[in-house]
Amino acid sequence: MRFHSFLSIFVLTAVTATSAVAEGELNLYSSRHYDTDERLYTDFEAQTGITINRIEAKAGALMERMRAEGKNSPADVLLTVDAGNLWRATEAGLFQPVESDILNARIPENLRSPDGSWYAFSQRARMIFYAKDRVENPPQTYEALADPQYEGMVCARSSSNIYMQSLLASIIAHAGTEAATEWTQGFHDNLARKPQGGDTDQLRGLISGECDIALANSYYFARALRKPVKGLSNAIDGIGWVFPNQSDRGAHVNISGGGVAAHAPNRENAIRFLEYLAGDAAQAYFSAGNDEFPVVEGSDISAEAASLGAFEADALNVSELGQHRKEAQMVYDRVGYP
Ligand code: FE
Repeated sequence: MRFHSFLSIFVLTAVTATSAVAEGELNLYSSRHYDTDERLYTDFEAQTGITINRIEAKAGALMERMRAEGKNSPADVLLTVDAGNLWRATEAGLFQPVESDILNARIPENLRSPDGSWYAFSQRARMIFYAKDRVENPPQTYEALADPQYEGMVCARSSSNIYMQSLLASIIAHAGTEAATEWTQGFHDNLARKPQGGDTDQLRGLISGECDIALANSYYFARALRKPVKGLSNAIDGIGWVFPNQSDRGAHVNISGGGVAAHAPNRENAIRFLEYLAGDAAQAYFSAGNDEFPVVEGSDISAEAASLGAFEADALNVSELGQHRKEAQMVYDRVGYP
């Protein structure tokens, strides 16, 4: 007990000393495409006196830029969406592993890179949505999307989309390539139309009548509950939803996350920023701003995201999604899924 209080005092002193010298800059490369993230940044600046310089672009462009900049890259933190992208950045040597007791304590083990290269700060479930008036027995699992009873009913994005690659990567991780190939064939046979558009377009298809069943990330639906989304919010009551695989492995979740850049000139600020993103306030912002689910248990969830209900998430380490991403693309190609 005495030892413990000694430690607390020590930690407290260390933190005070750090905050006195931590003012400065943080160069953030971000591919998060949500304008609602603004508060995340202004709050950090106000709390720490550290100025955030932001460069926003698509994940691929940011990674290419960091690669080209090499050792001279000003990037301190790379934030992006999808474990597949985080995996690609790790493979390209764009991150450096960091150790943080705060990050390790707050972020579940399956939602961070095993070596500390990156951490998840929010998560989203890939869900099955359906037209209530046309689908009596909606599929309860991803596997069921390949069931012939749903022939000509399913809408989904193209295989070049990383959400689709990660979903198939999770099936490969759980069932192996052969079973995943069979699934992809059946899933392809059930398509209502050639894969096209973004997640919101899959949901719109349920209302236009082009699709009876659609795959989309949870936050696209929650957003349409919160504010008007053209061609969706007006008739959203007609859409039902399923968190898939609740009686076995849980729903496939993906993440948004980030890590400290390999050559970060402001490494300490970068770690501090990541720790801030794992804090209570930032966790609540992620959910309030973009209707994602927090990664830290007990964090506030937006009313719209919460209205989808509680669910079991797949406990697979999300880094496995990256590991199987290329293979997933090969399976889609082999089957001829566009
Ligand atoms: Fe998205």
